[in-house]
Amino acid sequence: MSALWRNWSGLESVTPARVVRPKGANETAGAVLDAVRDGLPVKAIGAGHSFTGAALAPGVQLDMSAMSGLVSYDPGARQVTVGAGTYLYDMPPMLSKLGLAMANLGDIDRQTVAGALSTGTHGTGTRFGGLATQATAMTVATADGELRKFSKTRDPREWPAIALAVGSLGVLIDVTIQCVPAFKLHAVEAPEPLDDVLGDFRSRCTGADHFEFYWFPHTATALTKTNTRVPVDAPGEALPGMRRWVDDEVVSNAVYSLTCRLGSAVPIAVPRINRLAGRLLGHRDFTDASSSVFTTPRRVRFREMEYALPREVVPDAVRRIRELIDSKGWRISFPVEVRTAAPDDLWLSTAYGRDTGYIAVHRYLREDHREYFAAVEDIFREFGGRPHWGKLHTRSAADLRELYPHFDDFLAVRDALDPGRVFANPYLRQIFGT
Ligand SMILES: Cc1cc2nc3c(=O)[nH]c(=O)nc-3n(C[C@H](O)[C@H](O)[C@H](O)COP(=O)(O)OP(=O)(O)OC[C@H]3O[C@@H](n4cnc5c(N)ncnc54)[C@H](O)[C@@H]3O)c2cc1C
Repeated sequence: MSALWRNWSGLESVTPARVVRPKGANETAGAVLDAVRDGLPVKAIGAGHSFTGAALAPGVQLDMSAMSGLVSYDPGARQVTVGAGTYLYDMPPMLSKLGLAMANLGDIDRQTVAGALSTGTHGTGTRFGGLATQATAMTVATADGELRKFSKTRDPREWPAIALAVGSLGVLIDVTIQCVPAFKLHAVEAPEPLDDVLGDFRSRCTGADHFEFYWFPHTATALTKTNTRVPVDAPGEALPGMRRWVDDEVVSNAVYSLTCRLGSAVPIAVPRINRLAGRLLGHRDFTDASSSVFTTPRRVRFREMEYALPREVVPDAVRRIRELIDSKGWRISFPVEVRTAAPDDLWLSTAYGRDTGYIAVHRYLREDHREYFAAVEDIFREFGGRPHWGKLHTRSAADLRELYPHFDDFLAVRDALDPGRVFANPYLRQIFGT
């Protein structure tokens, strides 16, 4: 009997019929064929950091953790091929030895490469696409037990489907990543009036390499983060180790955990706590390795919904969320997070074909997120938002089709590669309708 599996947020759980931990490509393909023979669905899992049931594996759960690390390196092209189960936190030490880095990252590094790519994980920056846009090739174990190589340049017809498929087309064995020369980021973090940031949103995000902000509900303040790419040998001080520990571990995690518990027990205190959080997470100016600036530890557990919107509507959407929170009298301790991405051409990418802004709302694990998320989702819907595949939402195939011009083209590729729905699970049936 397999053990109970739970995702990071604790909202999804399942006891798989069996768990297989393949050590290589052939073993993975064999595990797929064994599952087909036994009439069981198959699902590869990453780090279980999706809030949705994307990684739920009631049949055969493939634990890809043994398929990690550097597979090959092409110095001329600055490309590395890594095992699909490689954790993102293993990438910077591996790449820095080669003088390389990933072009952009999200805000944590606990996910696996395959898991992050598969759900459209992204960071921020109007000139930078999500992580899947950094992939240039993949080896995939398909439902027929074959191992197929797909490449962005050699398979331009399939690539827009393969590179970002929410785990529906096969099991990723390895992924080739287009890297960039190692770089540092000069980070400037500052509390600013939310209204000013919204008023200048367009120029703030296009004027910086990586701009994002957090707004703590019940306050008038946004914490802005503006990161500028600088050469790896550029002068500039990293945060002293102790300061970083105090900021990242004590303030952002330990104290934050306490304040979330307090806010949950005494909701009326939330506005005051949020104002305090805004003050504690004050001004910082430092320069450090790109991965150390992009990602921070997140130990306080929460639930999250994030939508991709046409970038120009983001300020209005944030204002609507502020009005909503004020009008409902809710006490929301977790910030609203705003980021951006460049348009791309991957069919299921939330940034497909449009300049994109992301708005994420969160709720502490001990609080009921449903009423808040449902009301915010209505706002996102009105603005033509596309839900992040790894974060909570209620959309299904019928309305997702309207949001993705190549939705049916994607389903045609799925019909060709997985006609028997070997890789299906309830979440995929919700979003694809089959
Ligand atoms: C604290 C926290 C912070 C986050 N920050 C960000 C952020 O900054 N930006 C952002 O965009 N998202 C963010 N997310 C969401 C997260 O990046 C995605 O949900 C991501 O998919 C999680 O990766 P994972 O390795 O945990 O994959 P899982 O959640 O385990 O799986 C995700 C999907 O990938 C599939 N999959 C995994 N491995 C394979 C494989 N080898 N072959 C085929 N399919 C596979 C699974 O079947 C599933 O469909 C965050 C989540 C949390 C909990």
